[in-house]
Amino acid sequence: MSRFIINKNVQPSGEYEVHNLTSGCGAMPLPQNQIDLGWHSSCHGALAQARMSWPQAVIDGCAFCCPSCHTR
Ligand SMILES: [Zn+2]
Repeated sequence: MSRFIINKNVQPSGEYEVHNLTSGCGAMPLPQNQIDLGWHSSCHGALAQARMSWPQAVIDGCAFCCPSCHTR
């Protein structure tokens, strides 16, 4: 299980990125810009939860810490 967060600031390209807090990430947003998504067995669960919470938002996995969820 890993703990995931989503960056509350939108990327210049228009999506909100999910990061793995447990594995860490070189592109991790500052703590005040993180919204906790809780614990998930993979980034796919974290993205699913984020999309339920913010159905209007474009949400993607970080290319560095969530490569299997990175689609954009
Ligand atoms: Zn990341």
